[in-house]
Amino acid sequence: METILVLAHTENDGSLAKSAREALHAAATLHKSLAGSKFVVGLIGENVQAAANSIAACPATKYFGVTGADFSQSRYAPDTAAAEAICKAAQATIVVAPATSRWARVLPGVAQRLGGRADTHVTGVAAADGKISINRWYYRQRMECVSMRTQRPWFVGIDPGSQTACDCGAGAAAVEMVTVNLGDATKRTTVIGIREPKADAQTIRPDAQLMFVTGAGWTKKQADGQPHLPEAEKLILDFLKKSRASLGSSKSLVDLGGEGQAVLPFLSHMNQIGQTGATPRHAKGLSTCCHGEEPHTVGWRFIGERRAVNLDPNCGWARGKADVLYVADAFKVMAKVNELMAVQT
Ligand SMILES: Cc1cc2nc3c(=O)[nH]c(=O)nc-3n(C[C@H](O)[C@H](O)[C@H](O)COP(=O)(O)OP(=O)(O)OC[C@H]3O[C@@H](n4cnc5c(N)ncnc54)[C@H](O)[C@@H]3O)c2cc1C
Repeated sequence: METILVLAHTENDGSLAKSAREALHAAATLHKSLAGSKFVVGLIGENVQAAANSIAACPATKYFGVTGADFSQSRYAPDTAAAEAICKAAQATIVVAPATSRWARVLPGVAQRLGGRADTHVTGVAAADGKISINRWYYRQRMECVSMRTQRPWFVGIDPGSQTACDCGAGAAAVEMVTVNLGDATKRTTVIGIREPKADAQTIRPDAQLMFVTGAGWTKKQADGQPHLPEAEKLILDFLKKSRASLGSSKSLVDLGGEGQAVLPFLSHMNQIGQTGATPRHAKGLSTCCHGEEPHTVGWRFIGERRAVNLDPNCGWARGKADVLYVADAFKVMAKVNELMAVQT
């Protein structure tokens, strides 16, 4: 009989992130389709009662918690010890966890300690005829694979954004506290603060409906023989401000900065989409001044609806990579879009 454990950590305010609710949804669905399975939840954080209460209506029969100041921040050694202790207390055979940066670093280590196995970047978990399988993409999201394992415990890291978040309601949950004795060697790392861009400089927004992608065309000489960088910058930033879209880029555009050429200052390699960039998940994507080459568009695998604006009717987007291609000047298109959005707001 399988015991499915959802392992989550709380956020700074004691709540559960959407990614934790997505893992909970995946695990609850698995539990439903796996006759005789047990379903439990393990929470780690400074205080986990509020988080447990917020999901009390989920089908879990038991809640385990490791709490205290040592578990408020992401640190490998205390997190690993806490996760190991909960897995043992729950006698978990399947551990479903959100692949947050905090858990992604920790869970393979816990699997190693418990003689189990860990799979990362999982985008689906299912059971049929008592057998559990997971889905995962390979070769930069070009191939999807379904795999099974006999080894237990099996740690399954669910990619954030790949599931619907469970909407199970709140209530009062009884949390069984698990004691973890941390030696001094596990507390050597001290978190002294978090450095992050200012809110308005943060252009990567994983939860946005739309991904807006800029390509090197924005920096190229235009019909008048001149590049128009200040105008490009204004059009792009105006659109981002109005739409709250997440900003992606082609490799060529972010590389230009490294080569000492004038580029858009708000772009970094973190914005790059593609084979050597990110594979974000958004309902819609709009690409501008980007050619739509294969290494770039593999990063669009999980974008629901793709549109592109390019002057070139033979660009990569025209060859089946976009649902809609506007053969047009992106400077003009985005100026008009911004104008229309200004009227609406
Ligand atoms: C191993 C490998 C890995 C790679 N990984 C990635 C990756 O992860 N991500 C990635 O992006 N690339 C990647 N590349 C590079 C990729 O192959 C392309 O070189 C790159 O994506 C091209 O960027 P671009 O379309 O912005 O620029 P360009 O190819 O220069 O295209 C610019 C486009 O802008 C258009 N344009 C110009 N002016 C306008 C206008 N006014 N209105 C509308 N359109 C206009 C032009 O018609 C042109 O199509 C990789 C390459 C290799 C070899």
